[in-house]
Amino acid sequence: MNPVAEYFGNIYRGIKTAMIGMQITFKHLFTRAVTIQYPTVKMKLPERARNRLYVNMDDCIGCDQCAMACPVDCIDIETIKSAPEDNLGMTSTGQKKRLHVPVFDIDIAKCCYCGLCVYPCPTECIKMTDVYEFSEFDRHNLIYSFSTMTPAEIETAKVKAKKMEEEAAAKKAAAAAAAKAAAEAKAAAPPAPSPAAGEQQQKTE
Ligand code: SF4
Ligand code: SF4
Repeated sequence: MNPVAEYFGNIYRGIKTAMIGMQITFKHLFTRAVTIQYPTVKMKLPERARNRLYVNMDDCIGCDQCAMACPVDCIDIETIKSAPEDNLGMTSTGQKKRLHVPVFDIDIAKCCYCGLCVYPCPTECIKMTDVYEFSEFDRHNLIYSFSTMTPAEIETAKVKAKKMEEEAAAKKAAAAAAAKAAAEAKAAAPPAPSPAAGEQQQKTE
């Protein structure tokens, strides 16, 4: 082939194949993008997506049902009985709060996002949120503490609960002692004469 013709032929083929490729590019210039500028833009997650948990402690009654339902034991709850004079308020679902909750920790590093803790909650205060970015360098930072009690409040609640326990134990001991004394008095008293024995005595007279 003539070298000049071959040279221009190569140029023509190069331009032609580039234009064929650019056709696809031009077509996509006018179609809607399926990608997003993450992390500046985030996709809206489905309503029932399971991500990071959140607990609204204003509504938590410390019933422990969520912890019992968790298959990997990553919820740690401690409670303290409230004193009769304490008014812990009501939940938004109308239940009276009777327990202090000094510890409500969720180790989200262990959580498998099964959602089993959410369903049994009687006050609907433990929920899955749409937060899915919470990586940490230190896994201890993945233990989320939801309790809102201060150390001083916890100490006061513990002292009151201990006092209540001691009073209840003292009452129980006093009742047991009174019952024992009554039983001993009954055992020591002379037996009452039976009516049959009285009739027998009258006949012999
Ligand atoms: S989502 Fe599942 S694994 Fe995570 S805390 Fe709830 S019950 Fe436990
Ligand atoms: S089930 Fe709900 S109310 Fe009961 S301890 Fe868990 S979060 Fe609190």
